[in-house]
Amino acid sequence: MADLDTIVSLAKRRGFLYPSSEIYGGLGAVYDYGPLGVELKRNVRERWWNAMVREHDNVVGLDAAILMHPTVWKASGHVDAFSDPMIDDKASKRRYRADQLIEGHVDKLRAKGKDDEADAVYGRFVAALNADDPASALGQVIQDEEIKSPDSGAFDWTDVRQFNLMFETRVGAVAGEDDRIYLRPETAQGIFVHFKTVAETARQQVPFGIAQIGKAFRNEIVARQFIFRMREFEQMEMQYFVKPGEQMEAYEAWSERRMAWHRANGIRPEKLRWHEHEKLAHYADAAQDVQYEYPFGWNEVEGVHSRTDYDLSRHQEFSGKKLEYFDPQTQERYLPYVVETSVGLDRTILMVLCDAYAEEEVTNGDKTETRTVLRFHPALAPFTAAVFPLVKKGGMPEAAHKIEADLRRQFNVTYDEKGAVGRRYRRQDEVGTPFAITVDGDTLEDGTVTVRDRDSMEQDRIPAENVRRYIEDKVDA
Ligand code: ATP
Repeated sequence: MADLDTIVSLAKRRGFLYPSSEIYGGLGAVYDYGPLGVELKRNVRERWWNAMVREHDNVVGLDAAILMHPTVWKASGHVDAFSDPMIDDKASKRRYRADQLIEGHVDKLRAKGKDDEADAVYGRFVAALNADDPASALGQVIQDEEIKSPDSGAFDWTDVRQFNLMFETRVGAVAGEDDRIYLRPETAQGIFVHFKTVAETARQQVPFGIAQIGKAFRNEIVARQFIFRMREFEQMEMQYFVKPGEQMEAYEAWSERRMAWHRANGIRPEKLRWHEHEKLAHYADAAQDVQYEYPFGWNEVEGVHSRTDYDLSRHQEFSGKKLEYFDPQTQERYLPYVVETSVGLDRTILMVLCDAYAEEEVTNGDKTETRTVLRFHPALAPFTAAVFPLVKKGGMPEAAHKIEADLRRQFNVTYDEKGAVGRRYRRQDEVGTPFAITVDGDTLEDGTVTVRDRDSMEQDRIPAENVRRYIEDKVDA
């Protein structure tokens, strides 16, 4: 597998992702999507929306605002408890997350084959997370295990402190305590507060779901893994409301569908696994993550959580509005339980990029060369097809433009007439374009073109008028 630096540099060079405000030196953990990145992101988003909303009669969409009434975040628990335990290396002044330091230490022990020791430290770690005062308990583990600073190698730590991750801002012109509002750290609360309105106006009955895609903001302490951990990112979330007692069935069903979705995007199954939470939030009755094996190890890409009626009951309490649901079938009134699926769009993109990346030896005549290829699923690729005239004369560009225009009605395509065809293929391989259509002398005689497959590099000769259908069949497959 490629290392992260290779992915970062390809992403930049070919216009998938750039550091934000780069001419000013960038802004930590904030990134912009370039021309190809934006297409990839749209495709991932659309596949999620289709799988979650369009394919389910009882799941509807919502697009709530980023700014919400500040009491929302009191009710949700974010004001008091949405924090990470941080610790500073006094020597280098570098800040770390205490939990990540310990996990890193455990991974190191395992890499050295010291599995028993790793298990013991991991046990203490889980106990610390569940302690009354997790910050001090985590600090104690770092002390006892003599975990050194990864950058300075020193063992000179501050205490562990909880650091709230919400970004604050002010609303209106007059500054004061009452004007403080937050950039949402998750999209879910927009859905909870509208649960009843959506049920009524969309005429949905429990069980039903509300899905949303949107930006979320977290002032992450440690953000050194490209778009894995960003301060501004996008989430794709669905909250599914069920009758109390029926949550486990929904939890199992949605877990299965979510894993199937990642696989249907072409992610290699051996790089995906389930991971149960070390610590359940006090209100949750089940929680697990989909993890992907990124170049820097197994990490969460998506969470599936069974959250009971915690959120709705808190909002009912804080707003003073009844959020109970009247079940017309059983004539009962209750607060529904919630099963949520929450996946990071940017983390999905990073997974898709890492999983698609390959370098291969290919022979070209008597030369062997390395080609870089992104093996994107055809439905995710930024360009579905590239159209080339073999040479820039003899009516070939005109014929190629005609095919290009036809394909553009349905797909994002690119046209390229510069350089040798072999080099043009390589350029497309590197951005993952699954099909390259070449117009040559024969096209002008018999109306056929070649379609070259990115992965097998084999070519089919087919009538130009069938190209759109040919690609459509492969994208759908
Ligand atoms: P982590 O433990 O990695 O910080 P989390 O458990 O806090 O993640 P959730 O609150 O469950 O994450 O958020 C749901 C999803 O949102 C995550 O699975 C992830 O894909 C995405 N996500 C969360 N934080 C970030 C971030 N800072 N940058 C990019 N994506 C994120």
